Amino acid sequence: MGAGIYIHIPFCIRKCPYCDFYSVLYEKKLTDDYVKALCCHIKAYREYGVKADTIYFGGGTPSLLKPKQIDKILSGLNGNFNVKDAEITLEANPSSVDYEKLCEYRKTGINRISFGVQSADNRQLRFLGRLHDFDSASRAVYDAQRAGFDDISCDIMLGLSGQDMNSLNVTIDRIASLPIKHISAYMLKIEEGTAFDNDVVRRSIADEDLQCDMYLNTVERLDRLGFEQYEISNFAKEKRYSRHNMKYWQGEEYIGFGPAAHSYFNGQRFCSLSDIMKYIENPLDTKIITENNPDKTEEYIMLSLRLKRGISLKKVCELGGEELMECIKNKAEIYSQNRLCVIENDRISLTPKGFLVSNSIIASFLESGS
Ligand code: SF4
Repeated sequence: MGAGIYIHIPFCIRKCPYCDFYSVLYEKKLTDDYVKALCCHIKAYREYGVKADTIYFGGGTPSLLKPKQIDKILSGLNGNFNVKDAEITLEANPSSVDYEKLCEYRKTGINRISFGVQSADNRQLRFLGRLHDFDSASRAVYDAQRAGFDDISCDIMLGLSGQDMNSLNVTIDRIASLPIKHISAYMLKIEEGTAFDNDVVRRSIADEDLQCDMYLNTVERLDRLGFEQYEISNFAKEKRYSRHNMKYWQGEEYIGFGPAAHSYFNGQRFCSLSDIMKYIENPLDTKIITENNPDKTEEYIMLSLRLKRGISLKKVCELGGEELMECIKNKAEIYSQNRLCVIENDRISLTPKGFLVSNSIIASFLESGS
């Protein structure tokens, strides 16, 4: 099994009002300098001889990079990592691709594409400050299919201003009818310091009860449309799970490149400073260690409960001892009476209703160990 590689592409045409990901405004010259810095950073891993089987270009807006630039980064990765049978994903904005560009991306080796569609309602897209409308988003998906991508994912956002259950269902049905294998469905969250961080916006979006109903409705509807839920927010047809994201949830190693990119490698969690200019100046000098030897039991419970298949009691016992396992089992029995979780043989997994309160269930499981 190999590590995952994450490449952060921190450029956007403009800042969406809800977004708190690290990004700066797109400038062609800056992207050239940035690609150079990335390649230099990638080279520094040569000595470790790391095997890798997933590569993920996330952002920002990776589809603002030219196929040539993506090719350069992939050549760097192929030359310095042992990359084999890799899933290679590119996040794309529907407004920054066309058929020719998608064909070129496909030629570089990208084999999975993830579109930030968000909604099928153009008023809701305008509310989100997106540059595309739904017609151009669906055209981009069909173009990607024609360009040879058979692994396409789309994002849906829940709880938007002006979104009721009916309009959410229209969005789900329209997006699910596209030639795609994967959907990520996220609740709109107002992040501190973003343009949406004000009472007018807070009052205009779905309240907590409606958000919960929307989430449960989405899980059920996507299931009926053939998209199996495999993680709190992720759904797939034909088991086309995101192999890269599965690495995060299974506690496997991943290495991030670019400002604000996180890594988990050689027993350390670390990230790079959120500062593109410093990164371009010296990409090897922006590392901040966030955790040394993270607690394996805690990590296993927290990450695995995000997945539909949940935790194995045997594994909890191996990592944290019999007492912890028994405490968790007893608590799970109570949660299962309220249909928040399911206990099946050795496994405990959360139901969609349980996912809605996953943070408190996880906290209560972890308390058992303290
Ligand atoms: S949502 Fe995507 S396109 Fe919009 S600012 Fe954030 S990273 Fe950029």
